[in-house]
Amino acid sequence: MTDPADHYETIVIGAGPAGLTAALYLARYRREVLVIHDGKSRALRIPKTHNVPGFPDGIEGPDLIEHMTRHAEEFGTRIKEAKVTGIEPTDTGFRLTGSIGETWESRAAILASGILLNQVDLPHEVHEAAIEAGVLRYCPVCDGYEHSGARIGVIGCDSDGAAEALFLRQYSVDITLMPLSHPELSREQASEMADAGIAVETGALLALEPHDDHMEVRLDGRDAPLSFDVIYPALGCRPRGELAEQLGIELRNEGCVPAGAEKDSGVPGFFAAGDVVEGLDQISVAMGHGALAATKAHNWLREQDRHTLQADE
Ligand SMILES: Cc1cc2nc3c(=O)[nH]c(=O)nc-3n(C[C@H](O)[C@H](O)[C@H](O)COP(=O)(O)OP(=O)(O)OC[C@H]3O[C@@H](n4cnc5c(N)ncnc54)[C@H](O)[C@@H]3O)c2cc1C
Repeated sequence: MTDPADHYETIVIGAGPAGLTAALYLARYRREVLVIHDGKSRALRIPKTHNVPGFPDGIEGPDLIEHMTRHAEEFGTRIKEAKVTGIEPTDTGFRLTGSIGETWESRAAILASGILLNQVDLPHEVHEAAIEAGVLRYCPVCDGYEHSGARIGVIGCDSDGAAEALFLRQYSVDITLMPLSHPELSREQASEMADAGIAVETGALLALEPHDDHMEVRLDGRDAPLSFDVIYPALGCRPRGELAEQLGIELRNEGCVPAGAEKDSGVPGFFAAGDVVEGLDQISVAMGHGALAATKAHNWLREQDRHTLQADE
């Protein structure tokens, strides 16, 4: 016999900037809210962010998440670590199942599950140490500024890589685009690179060797490694949109929940927020989505109840 499900008014899947903002708003709308997360917020990997408004000296990702967690808990949010593997509609809302057979039910649900990066092939600890050292970066919008004037290598010689190299050109004249296996630039893109003074290598990536203050890159056909202050892989990502798909939501752009789902996902009572939604993958955007999704979920519940607040409530 399975355990009876825990019941909540609202469940938020994800404890990153989107999910924790949604939870804070819901708790302050006096909604019962449970956050379920599997410990993989991308924000936990940020050594120090400098573009979150309100922190002029920057803030470390784990500190930001800790403050946001405490803030949401302060107003009554419950937080549980578990992996949600299933979601289905019920007569009264949604039933969620966890990877070890747990079940939860809620009237409304917010998916704030983020994305997983496609990363370069390095052992996990070496990879994370290179991020911490600042010689490996994945988000020019986040930290291109910190690499102004640096020797920058971009991995991924296709349209994504070309777009990223051009974006980084704002910060440095020394940009090199390198393929993972072989260059896939159109003639037009190749001439755009040349016009912008971006060097394009053709040999496949053989190895990355991170050091404390630079990254060495070994390419097929070159005897000596190339040396860069920082490397930006432009290899795309995998949005964690499976639960939305289980509800019949059609995903876009390699698995994103369609833009606008923070206001209306098309499934009554279900909303989405943050990186998993098509758009700019940034903390401030995730927070804004979280606020919108929570407000929409709250108003949706009020409509369901045809609820009129009494003056003394
Ligand atoms: C190295 C690095 C540096 C960055 N620097 C910056 C920066 O300077 N500025 C900036 O704005 N952004 C930066 N970002 C991006 C930023 O981290 C993300 O935009 C932000 O974390 C998105 O918030 P989110 O809540 O949508 O997703 P996330 O923070 O990724 O949170 C997703 C949550 O969902 C949970 N989850 C997912 N699926 C499930 C499931 N099935 N069951 C249970 N839980 C689940 C995860 O455990 C996690 O708690 C950086 C990212 C990285 C990796």
